[in-house]
Amino acid sequence: MLPFVWSDDCLRHEPEAEVWVGTRTPATEVPARLVAIRGELLSSGAREVAAQAHDDSALLAVHDPALVEFLRTTWDEWESARLPSDRVVPYVFARKELTSGREPATPAAVWARPGLFAYDTMTLIGPGTWEAARAAVDVALTTVDLVAGGERLAYACCRPPGHHVTRSLYGGSCYLNNTAIAATALLAQVGGPVAVVDIDAHHGNGTQELFLGNAAVRTASVHVDPGAGWFPHFLGFAEESDDTNLNLPLAPGTSDLGWLAAVTRAAEFAAGARALVIALGLDAATGDPESPLEVTAAGYRQAGRILAELDLPIVVVQEGGYDLETIGPLAVETLRGLATV
Ligand SMILES: [Zn+2]
Repeated sequence: MLPFVWSDDCLRHEPEAEVWVGTRTPATEVPARLVAIRGELLSSGAREVAAQAHDDSALLAVHDPALVEFLRTTWDEWESARLPSDRVVPYVFARKELTSGREPATPAAVWARPGLFAYDTMTLIGPGTWEAARAAVDVALTTVDLVAGGERLAYACCRPPGHHVTRSLYGGSCYLNNTAIAATALLAQVGGPVAVVDIDAHHGNGTQELFLGNAAVRTASVHVDPGAGWFPHFLGFAEESDDTNLNLPLAPGTSDLGWLAAVTRAAEFAAGARALVIALGLDAATGDPESPLEVTAAGYRQAGRILAELDLPIVVVQEGGYDLETIGPLAVETLRGLATV
């Protein structure tokens, strides 16, 4: 039976909204996503494993301690300051050109501090955000423990997602990079190199930046072309590829054939690694409200088969996927494909 790791604390983050082009819009990265996936996993006969608490060492191997401390404390500070917004949202950004490259001051104003660490306005922080993000790290690390302990395949059923977070900056509805933390922990446990294949509809920009030039963790990402106007906009282009990173941007409207060809190239790039982390975004699916890719459930299952043929130990980490009706079945189809070899 496929093991999947779970923590109720991952449900505690309720962003309620995003601020997108200056407008407060309803959040799509909601707790119901994870409830839907868990329900489908249990119906399919998967085995639930409770997340175990891990200390901060793996977290701090990936992220700037200042980012971690900010995420841990900012909601309480915001609430104490009695600000008009019920969520932490930045309004001013500490771009390095503002200080000619010098380290910016830590602002005295609580409401200015998010601008040290946030790179967008749509990733809000509220009560429970830290607890959920930290729980997602424990889910990912417990999943790594299962695979290091001999499971061929295990799935981290976690949120909020993480692949858009760099060493020091959060954004893209992500706070801590669960995939990168899993890859780092897996590298320490099984030896390298480790490969990360990101099949979320959006470029895994945080993971790319964390490991760029690091031969011990190869990263590949299959995603909608940022050049066609899609998040993360500033990177994710094919030209960023090198010996350690492969970007495979796809045109809006790409369906199974083109998407699976890219997944095959990503799998070829991962070949030769000792273990694999899959950043499983389900938002490439047709009908997902957050991307223009048109992948079917059969496509996701086939992607699982392609990656399973690498015959590597596999940690799957949940990333995006926003259609509450289909994300559960899509996760199960992918895991079935991965379990076929
Ligand atoms: Zn995504």
